[in-house]
Amino acid sequence: MPCHVFREAISARLDGEPLGMPARELDDHLGSCAACATWSDQAERTTRRARLAPAPPVPDLTGAVLAALPRELPGAAAAARRRLVDTGLRLALLAVGVAQAGIAWPVLVTGAGAMSAPTHMTHETGAWNLAVAAAFLAVAAAPRLAAGALPFLLSFTALLVPVTLADLGAGHVHADRALAHLLLVAGVVLVSTGAFRNRSRRRGPRVLLSRMRQQVVA
Ligand SMILES: [Zn+2]
Repeated sequence: MPCHVFREAISARLDGEPLGMPARELDDHLGSCAACATWSDQAERTTRRARLAPAPPVPDLTGAVLAALPRELPGAAAAARRRLVDTGLRLALLAVGVAQAGIAWPVLVTGAGAMSAPTHMTHETGAWNLAVAAAFLAVAAAPRLAAGALPFLLSFTALLVPVTLADLGAGHVHADRALAHLLLVAGVVLVSTGAFRNRSRRRGPRVLLSRMRQQVVA
């Protein structure tokens, strides 16, 4: 085998790479070929010197790189605002739910309403109003339920508001009891807002994906 093949193997050994021949064969050649043995020593010395040489100075770019980074990731501010609004909506709904329950519970338990009505009618009204409070509290705890609660809440409100206004006009209801229904309206507005925001959140990624696909196809 010519010497240059062994020198390639020496080189490979210095770099920690496969020799391409049995190590025994290389060592045998180094033992018998003075030229290759000298070459091996020199190569080893050169390699060691290169490895021990100090690394060339590199400018410290840490400051420049950090300064070039955006203060916050794109969309982070919008996401933080959205979380803040979501939390505000849930807290408001929690307050409305608690207030609604506070009005409905005594009526349900004692059967004593603000107006004279048969006891069972009062119980029934109390149950309805407490169920509305439970719906508000459930959506405050789990906002994903907002859309599911809307069919009941919206229809109840759509029916109750006009009859309450009519009763107010005809003097069939005290203003304070009619005002209590504003809690219902407030809660329904909050639940509707939550449902709308959930819907736009779900649609966001889908719209983005479809736009990306259109760009790829175009
Ligand atoms: Zn040789």
